Amino acid sequence: MESATGSPAPSAADPAAPGDGLILDPNAYSAPHLEPGDEARMRATIEWFEQRGKVALKDADRENRWYSDYLEFQASEGIFSRFLTPARDAGGDPERRWDTQRICQLSEVSAFYGLAYWYTWQVTILGLGPIFQSENEAARAKAARLLDEGSIFAFGLSERAHGADIYSTDMVLTPNGDGFMATGGKYYIGNGNEAGMVSVFGRVDGIEGPDGYAFFAADSQHPNYELIRNVVNSQNYVSQFELRDYPVAASDVLHRGPGAFDAALNTVNIGKFNLGFASIGICEHALHESITHADSRVLYGIKVTDFPHVRQAFTDSYARLIAMKLFANRAIDYMRSANPEDRRYLLFNPLTKMKVTTEGERVIDELWDVMAAKGFERDMFFEMAARDIRGLPKLEGTVHVNMALVLKFMAGYLFNPDAELAPPERTLAPGDDEFLFRQGPARGLSKIRFSPWRDAFEPFAGVPNVARFVELAESFKTLLIDAAPGEDQQRDLDYLLTLGELFTLIPYGQLICEQAAFVGVPEDTLDQIFDVLIRDFSAYAVQLHGKTSATDAQQAWARGAIAKPVVDGERFDSVFGKVRGLAGRYEMRA
Ligand SMILES: Cc1cc2nc3c(=O)[nH]c(=O)nc-3n(C[C@H](O)[C@H](O)[C@H](O)COP(=O)(O)OP(=O)(O)OC[C@H]3O[C@@H](n4cnc5c(N)ncnc54)[C@H](O)[C@@H]3O)c2cc1C
Repeated sequence: MESATGSPAPSAADPAAPGDGLILDPNAYSAPHLEPGDEARMRATIEWFEQRGKVALKDADRENRWYSDYLEFQASEGIFSRFLTPARDAGGDPERRWDTQRICQLSEVSAFYGLAYWYTWQVTILGLGPIFQSENEAARAKAARLLDEGSIFAFGLSERAHGADIYSTDMVLTPNGDGFMATGGKYYIGNGNEAGMVSVFGRVDGIEGPDGYAFFAADSQHPNYELIRNVVNSQNYVSQFELRDYPVAASDVLHRGPGAFDAALNTVNIGKFNLGFASIGICEHALHESITHADSRVLYGIKVTDFPHVRQAFTDSYARLIAMKLFANRAIDYMRSANPEDRRYLLFNPLTKMKVTTEGERVIDELWDVMAAKGFERDMFFEMAARDIRGLPKLEGTVHVNMALVLKFMAGYLFNPDAELAPPERTLAPGDDEFLFRQGPARGLSKIRFSPWRDAFEPFAGVPNVARFVELAESFKTLLIDAAPGEDQQRDLDYLLTLGELFTLIPYGQLICEQAAFVGVPEDTLDQIFDVLIRDFSAYAVQLHGKTSATDAQQAWARGAIAKPVVDGERFDSVFGKVRGLAGRYEMRA
């Protein structure tokens, strides 16, 4: 069966195909849930990269060459314009809408060929966030027109001195007639060299607190916009720029007061979701290269893929990658079905950002131990993957910041589920995800209700490691009841981060099961995924045990939570066979 092979957002797994038909394979790309025109655009993107070839890809990377050829290609195909203009500003054109399904597809496919190609698209998404959330119709119309002309965009939030502390902006707007004069610097701003509109966050001089915040659109080509330098060593232009008495007309203002701050957070909510898909794309390409290399190499008369530790590394990294895909693709449904009454996406979105991207790092670590020297070679994609995979957990809020957010949901998720609430339907049909542009203030997180998490695991109660994982998840609840963190521990983010890692595995497992049921993931693969998750749970329990402040009762719980997955040699061999089956199937054209 060829149908599902290479489908990056699976509508169905294919147990007979290598990689269960779930690993992106450019030679057999299919995205049946997209409209034919969009599927063709994805194929055209793949073809553009393949025709240009790996030699050019690597040369451009080595020489830090700005990707104007790629931007010209997307402009000629109208991809950013179609995919990133919300329906309300699309002038009735049904092809232009904000559809998270196809956005995630392009994130995965572009990162498959290099994080730089993903990044220019990603910061365009971020730059558009404050504009399309604005009630400033003229600014929205301008953005739609510029997109149509092939422009890119930028998001000017970060400043050199303030990092994650966006409350402390030094971009100051001084009232000037109907508008303002803006003065201040921004740092780490992607696309800041060429963006048609740069959404800049600042504060109005003389107004204290949230009432003073403002977002406005700046033109990167204006003489009072001084582009200082590219602060990174890469194809991307991650700019430092200064606005010097930059005239901000009233028509450039996008948001004022607390709404400007909400627009910043809600933009990051829209954007950070894509990081998980970038991580998936990078890992898929790296997996193709690793298995093809290892399976054709013979050492001491033995195939490298016959070494037991190599088989374990491939089986584990494959299980992790499939888990990343299942979770992230299911999380799309929570994003797309969100509304003011259903904000469950606020948990699954930071998990896609944080958990999926850190899992991506583990996949690359494991594969690199197998690739060894080959992973350094100048003509391998892997060399880029090993570098780029590190960035994703750190951008748009570090793991710490996202974990602090995830922890806010722990009590409600575990102890107060709403039995009346069903998990959302699948959202494969084309549509416009307009709620993302009117998310409102991010208040009342502890009031968000979830469906009972156990329901998702129920259909797989017969899968040995799913059943064992559910026991561990239940035992985690007893930890929180019988040996709850004390007041000091509740203020200690170091302790809470480990507690959060343990908690995170439960919603991670939930969405993996929900998606596995939809796409029909074979039982052996699912069992292997939970084999990995059980070992991870045990490892985090050991970390908790070693925390300075862990009490006797907490340590006793941790020792009891060290569990061995259910061993099954046949299952292991069968899952390893799925990875090995990928060997030699795809290599980027030279
Ligand atoms: C390649 C690249 C591209 C980027 N592109 C853009 C862009 O286009 N636009 C833009 O605006 N920004 C961009 N950024 C900035 C990026 O979003 C910041 O790196 C990020 O906000 C974190 O800031 P920081 O790295 O300075 O870390 P800091 O904020 O200095 O953090 C230092 C440490 O404190 C921890 N910490 C900080 N706050 C908290 C908290 N509340 N809870 C728990 N721990 C905390 C962090 O986890 C970290 O370990 C980019 C950065 C890079 C490297």
